[in-house]
Amino acid sequence: MPPTASSSTVFPCPALATSWVLSERTVSARVPRSRFSPESLSPTWADYFTKLLEDDLKAVVKPQYVDQIPKAIRTPDKSVKFLIEGRRSLDNLDEVLDTLELRHIYDRDVTLLSGGELQRFAIGTVCVQKADVYMFDEPSSYLDVKQRLSAARIIRSLLRPDDYVIVVEHDLSVLDYLSDYVCCLYGQPAVYGVVTLPHSVREGINIFLDGHIPTENLRFRDESLTFRIAEGTEEFIQEKSRAFKYPAMEKTMGNFHLSIDAGSFSDSEIIVMMGENGTGKTTFCRLLAGVLKPDGTKRVPEMKISMKPQTITPKFEGTVRQLFFKKIKAAFLSPQFQTDVVKPLKLDDFIDQEVKHLSGGELQRVAIVLALGIPADIYLIDEPSAYLDSEQRIIASRVIKRFIMHAKKTAFIVEHDFIMATYLADRVIVFDGKPGIDAHANKPESLLTGCNTFLKNLDVTFRRDPTNYRPRINKLNSQLDQEQKLSGNYFFLD
Ligand code: ADP
Ligand code: MG
Repeated sequence: MPPTASSSTVFPCPALATSWVLSERTVSARVPRSRFSPESLSPTWADYFTKLLEDDLKAVVKPQYVDQIPKAIRTPDKSVKFLIEGRRSLDNLDEVLDTLELRHIYDRDVTLLSGGELQRFAIGTVCVQKADVYMFDEPSSYLDVKQRLSAARIIRSLLRPDDYVIVVEHDLSVLDYLSDYVCCLYGQPAVYGVVTLPHSVREGINIFLDGHIPTENLRFRDESLTFRIAEGTEEFIQEKSRAFKYPAMEKTMGNFHLSIDAGSFSDSEIIVMMGENGTGKTTFCRLLAGVLKPDGTKRVPEMKISMKPQTITPKFEGTVRQLFFKKIKAAFLSPQFQTDVVKPLKLDDFIDQEVKHLSGGELQRVAIVLALGIPADIYLIDEPSAYLDSEQRIIASRVIKRFIMHAKKTAFIVEHDFIMATYLADRVIVFDGKPGIDAHANKPESLLTGCNTFLKNLDVTFRRDPTNYRPRINKLNSQLDQEQKLSGNYFFLD
């Protein structure tokens, strides 16, 4: 688990949102505690600590594990409406319900909500309350890109001259969009954690990616993380020798209808599926895998498929090592696979633990190894970033990319973390239409045109950071945002 800080190690600024980037890596040196004394901070932070000591602050918290909320609710009425209205002390209910798309589930019992719905409910419950300190622990889990940006907007709407907003977030584009200041946390999981002083967003994210804090001259990670794809050793020579095709298809399930444009792909290629929740991305994966059949007589040609499902429910009785020996023995014993996949994903710490006792992030890494360990032509990887922290996301993306390119395979990947999605993608499939009702999957297209279409729907533009090439969201209506929208360049390629 990533180290988490107690409220006494918080460095927020009034009327500014501060985000924390978490790192799970070991450090070679520790910053002296005295650096963090309230006296060394600016007056606003000293003021915060004084208030904290005087117990004069009302704090509300959106917990990390939203799946546990239903169990914790003891009122006889468990409807979203009752629970939100019962806590309401600000005059923003309509805005919260609209922004977080809660109206259609307003009368529903919380025990019936999906992960994404629970997340939005939990954020909404916090946002309708008057408080001095708002804390959101991982608000983007289970949300699609559009919902992540809406959540960021409603969280920012809480900023007043006299309050504090603190967010823990792993999606770097959301964190970038959301915050005014960033503190990085580093340390050794389950042993200790250190919080850096607040930095500007750009500086904070760059420190995190660099693994080095210039003001302290302290390195907390050996290598730095960049997003340049064609970079030295990461340059993949793409020799495409095999061609695959799937026909135009329709799939109806209950009230939901999905139409898919015909498409083709080759080996040494990663295709990322982008689209709102409920537009049929998982359904499309299952059609490709042959687990579901399309309507009528159309059939997907038979291909050798390995799939990492979106939801991972471990049933295996035994340790991670035993699981690997049972399911992917050949790959697991191969030195190449060990070097390319197993080692970078750092499974050593829990390889001899019972699968059933693993945390979400550990299970996700085991699931990625299992999927890549099965010999196949096509790898379907549904939401690999879920439960992973920022650093693990970057590592997992590299592992997947390197594996697919070296083994000359194809991957279809569903991914909402935009930085990870654009790092991985050679081409993209954009899903559009009405979520849960009538959706459409476009044919695979280039990263540039696909992202342009996708971002245009969301009314968001991106630029590239000149230091580490990561995509950054332009602030709404900023000069760049307006210029890029006018010229139709929602995304860039260099
Ligand atoms: P995504 O992965 O893009 O979030 P899914 O493919 O999981 O979307 O689901 C698309 C829609 O189909 C959702 O509204 C979901 O509720 C619905 N759906 C999924 N499985 C079934 C089913 N067996 N019967 C009826 N509706 C279903
Ligand atoms: Mg899905």
